[in-house]
Order: sequence, then structure tokens, then C-alpha cells
Amino acid sequence: MPIDPTEPYDSDNIFARILRGEIPNETVYEDDRVLAFKDINPQASNHILVIPKGEYVSWDDFTKTASDQEIAHFIRTIGKIAREHGFVEPGYRLLANIGRHGGQEVPHLHVHIFAGEPLGPMIARG
Ligand code: AMP
Repeated sequence: MPIDPTEPYDSDNIFARILRGEIPNETVYEDDRVLAFKDINPQASNHILVIPKGEYVSWDDFTKTASDQEIAHFIRTIGKIAREHGFVEPGYRLLANIGRHGGQEVPHLHVHIFAGEPLGPMIARG
């Protein structure tokens, strides 16, 4: 079920539990503010989720309430992870789903990185 991105942060969401170490994950990058791990149900040969460690429900919440420093670090880190995985050439895709129309399922901000193959049309129709 898509989430309502205007709801308050739910500290029992699955990514909060991953951050607390209650659920295992395949970490590919970690620092004091960001965690990146493999998506459990990959939609491309490389599918990584990047999340801030702070409690943000969605991209909307993050860009409204996080500090400029946190936002800059998060975005730079996504670029760094993609570079370190060799995704820049031949290319990759970023995606953040927000709310009902975006199809966001987990109420903790995450950016998807897809890579490793031609990724097809930007938006699936049909
Ligand atoms: P979204 O629809 O943008 O909210 O995407 C949520 C993503 O989280 C989906 O691609 C799921 O496959 C992924 N996911 C859910 N639970 C886990 C988990 N425990 N570990 C890794 N990825 C997960």
C-alpha cells in the first residue's frame, strides 16, 4: 500500500529497523549520515537503495526539513556510490517515489539506484 507522505515518521518502518540493526541488509556503503544497501527485490541487475540515517518520511519531508548540509551530503553520497560502483559510464537511473501517485511503499526516504543494463522507458505504461 502506498504511504501518505504527510504522516508523521513511523519509527517501526522497515528501514528504521534496518538502521537499528534489527533486520539484516546487504550494505554497500555506510557513513555517519547515510546507509546504502541492496534492494531485496531487485528491478535491475544492480538495484541499490540509499537512505539518510535521519528520520525523514519522504523526499518531500527531507527537502522541507533537513539542513542544507544534510541534503548536500546525501546527494553527493548518491553520486559517490554510483561512481564507486562504475555506473557513470554506461549510465544509471535514480528514482525517488513520493506518496500515493509515486507508489512509495516504505515511509523512510530512499533513493533507488538502478544500473547494469539498458533501463528502458522512463515510466512504465500499460
Ligand atoms: P518504494 O516503492 O519506493 O517505497 O520502494 C521500496 C523498496 O524497498 C522496494 O523496492 C522493496 O523491494 C524494498 N525493500 C523492502 N524491504 C526491504 C528490505 N528488508 N531490504 C531491502 N529492500 C527492501
